[in-house]
Amino acid sequence: MKYEKNEIVTVTIEDIGSEGEGIGRVEGFTLFVKDAVVGDTVEARIVKNKKTYAYGRLEKVLVPSPFRVEPKCAWHRQCGGCQLQSCSYERQLVFKQDKIRNSLIRIGGFAPEQVDACMEPIVGMEFPFRYRNKAQYPVGTDRDGNVVAGFYAARTHNIIAHTDCWLGPVENEAILNCILEYMRENKVSAYDEKTGTGLVRHILIRKGFASGEIMVCLVINGKRADFKTGSGIAGTDYQFLPAQDELLKKLAAIKGMTSVSVSLNSEQTNVIMGKEIYTLWGKDTISDTIRVRDMAQPGFPLTGKELTFAISPLSFYQVNPVQTEKLYSLALEYAGLTGQETVWDLYCGIGTISLFLAGNAGKVYGVEVIPQAIEDARENAKRNGIENAAFFVGKAEDVLQEIYGGGTEKEQVGDEGMLHPDVIVVDPPRKGCDSACLEVMLKMRPERIVYVSCDPATLARDLKVLCAGGYEMTRARGVDQFGGTVHVESIVLLSKPRIIFLSKAD
Ligand code: SAH
Repeated sequence: MKYEKNEIVTVTIEDIGSEGEGIGRVEGFTLFVKDAVVGDTVEARIVKNKKTYAYGRLEKVLVPSPFRVEPKCAWHRQCGGCQLQSCSYERQLVFKQDKIRNSLIRIGGFAPEQVDACMEPIVGMEFPFRYRNKAQYPVGTDRDGNVVAGFYAARTHNIIAHTDCWLGPVENEAILNCILEYMRENKVSAYDEKTGTGLVRHILIRKGFASGEIMVCLVINGKRADFKTGSGIAGTDYQFLPAQDELLKKLAAIKGMTSVSVSLNSEQTNVIMGKEIYTLWGKDTISDTIRVRDMAQPGFPLTGKELTFAISPLSFYQVNPVQTEKLYSLALEYAGLTGQETVWDLYCGIGTISLFLAGNAGKVYGVEVIPQAIEDARENAKRNGIENAAFFVGKAEDVLQEIYGGGTEKEQVGDEGMLHPDVIVVDPPRKGCDSACLEVMLKMRPERIVYVSCDPATLARDLKVLCAGGYEMTRARGVDQFGGTVHVESIVLLSKPRIIFLSKAD
């Protein structure tokens, strides 16, 4: 081992690791220093020592990097949610573009020249803060017995009181303070994870950025039988909270407030939301609009087409609506639809991409494993007057295999396009597509595959399989949905190479 524990080492940071940590080298020995920015020269204290590498804690920035910026949030080091907040946004985008490029080369096995020929410049955010439309704040009690809301310190369940996260809208702070004040005045207890006692566990806030509508859901510890019926000012007969009407009046006075609900969760678990939801005031859902943009034009102008979605406390919905518009508009562009095509949208969630594509397709089939999400997808289709989209509940690999069993399914499904679609779009979770899913996709042989991914590593792994199966990567682009963090979305177009017969010139 090169260093002693607690030894102070001077190192220049040359690279950014996958978790956002700074990476430096001293005489061939690698040092990982969290919170150090690429280009910094720092003093780091060795905290963990291995044969060829060590982890250091940032002690002092000796020479700041030209990319180092003043972080907006005083808590970003403790929180760990924004790993790159001290690094300029422009440099963050370079890191994300490289992350996608390197994954395609190292994991996907693509030649650097091919990757460079396919990759378009990453689509960054105009303002990389205040972009999240959903936040879940844990509620607890501090050492002095005060009720607090905030975030968990990185890798712990200790709550740090902090009501103004820079990733969420400004309204969140007033909402949290309103609830905390009500809790203090009425001696409403906060949940204690260790004992499983106390009432308020989490506060969920969602905002429809286009509609301005706000939803608050208090996650409380209990079962319905634990609560008395009474007369709420609206919506429900149950009294879930002491002096419930007082809280509802306060929240209702906040501009944009549209829905206030409780979610019951009496399990001792890390899962935040309980399954039962009761609306206490206002509507059950908020609405939001996603607009189609022309991604081929500079500045990505609006096309005038848009879709409206209803969002409940439990609905899945993309968290950065501004960038989502750009991502979905790219998916639409990559799909290359003319109005006739049959399209499968696998891992469709509440059908957002499916409905985006439906306007330009003959028929769209969506598949999603969560039944509630498919119910929402069908509702959303109705809400937007879309009749050429159908949805299936199940694992993508199972539903496709059932339909493409080989043999008689043509009679069963009665739809040739379903078996041999023109386009398949996939948008899987971080773990990527199941190998059985990739296998059936290859059998279905669509003209184009559009792969939307939130993890460049699994994207590259799956592309390798699809390209070995005869597809060719033709376009690829990053879309940053998560400024300040190491995460990045990407979208790739795979095409079925055309066989061209060259005739000799006579
Ligand atoms: N395309 C949607 C959702 C993408 S998130 C949107 O843009 O909003 C990925 C979705 O895949 C989640 O909704 C998750 O529930 C679903 N999912 C996870 N594993 C799945 C599987 N094996 N088959 C189908 N859907 C799955």
